Amino acid sequence: MSLSELPPGSVALAWALLGLMVGSFLNVCIYRLPREGMSVSRPRRSQCPACGTELGWVENIPLLSWIVQAGRCRTCSARISLRYPLVEASNAGLWYMAVTLAGPADWPLWLCWSVVLSGLLVATMVDFDCFQIPDEVSLGGCVLAPLACLCVPGLQGETLLAQFLSADPLGGVDRVGALLSSFAGMGVGAGVLLLIGALGKRIYGAEAMGLGDVKLLAAGGGFIGPGGALVALALAALVASVFGLLNMLRFFILSRSRARGRGRSVGIRRSLRVARLAGRYLPFGPFLGLGIGIVLLAWDDLSFLWL
Ligand SMILES: [Zn+2]
Repeated sequence: MSLSELPPGSVALAWALLGLMVGSFLNVCIYRLPREGMSVSRPRRSQCPACGTELGWVENIPLLSWIVQAGRCRTCSARISLRYPLVEASNAGLWYMAVTLAGPADWPLWLCWSVVLSGLLVATMVDFDCFQIPDEVSLGGCVLAPLACLCVPGLQGETLLAQFLSADPLGGVDRVGALLSSFAGMGVGAGVLLLIGALGKRIYGAEAMGLGDVKLLAAGGGFIGPGGALVALALAALVASVFGLLNMLRFFILSRSRARGRGRSVGIRRSLRVARLAGRYLPFGPFLGLGIGIVLLAWDDLSFLWL
C-alpha cells in the first residue's frame, strides 16, 4: 500500500500531529540556542524559567498542557508565554501545508520541506528575541542543502538552472543538476546580501546587513536555487518595508500620546525623528524566513511574477 492510497488528508494530519510534538522541541531550541552554557540536550529536562522546577511529562504535552494549565506553571503559577503553544501550532500547520502542497505520495519532498520550514521558524523566533540567527540553523542549513538536493533532486525540480544543467531532455532534474543549482543558490543568496551590505556601508557608512542574514539566505538559496533566493529576498524586502513603516507609525503615535500625557507640547518634527530612529530596528531574519518559506512552497505559483 502506498501513501497515496490512504484516506485523503490522513497523511497530512498524522504528519501535523508529529509536527506539533516537534514544535515542542523547537521551543527548547528557540530558548536555548542563543543562551551561553545551554544546549539542546543540556539540561536534559525542561524547567520552568521562573521557579526552575523540572517539568514532568504531563506538563510537556504540546498545546494541551498550556490549555489545561491556563497558561500558568503548575508549581509557581508564573505565566507561561502564549508563544510556546503558538510555535507548536505553527509548526504543525507548516508541516500540514508541506504534505498537502507536495502531495502525500512524494514523501522525500515534504520531509525535506518540513525540516527547512522548522529551521526557518526557529531562526525567525530567535532573531525576534535576540537580533541574531543561530549558526546551528543557518550554517547547518548550508551543509544540509546540497546533501538534501543530491538525495532529493525534486527539491530543485522547478529551478530553471537545475533543469538546464540536467541531462534529462524532458526538463526533469537529476542529481547533478540539483546539486549544482543548490551551490549556485547558496552563492547567489550570500553574494547578493554581501553586495547590498558593502553598498550600504559605502553609502550610509554603517553596517546595513548582519552576517546572520547572509548565512540564512545562503542556506535558503541552497534549497530554492539562485532565482528563488533573489525572489525570496525581494519578498522579504517588500514585507519588511511595510512592517518598518508600521513600526515607525507605532513609535510616532506612542511618542505623541506620551507627550500629551505629560502635558508637554512636543513638536511633530521631534516625534517624527524619534519614530524614525526607534522604528528602524527590526530584525530582517523573520522576513527572510518568510520569503524563503513562500518560495519553497509556492515556486510554481509565483511564476506569474516574471511570465
Ligand atoms: Zn514555575
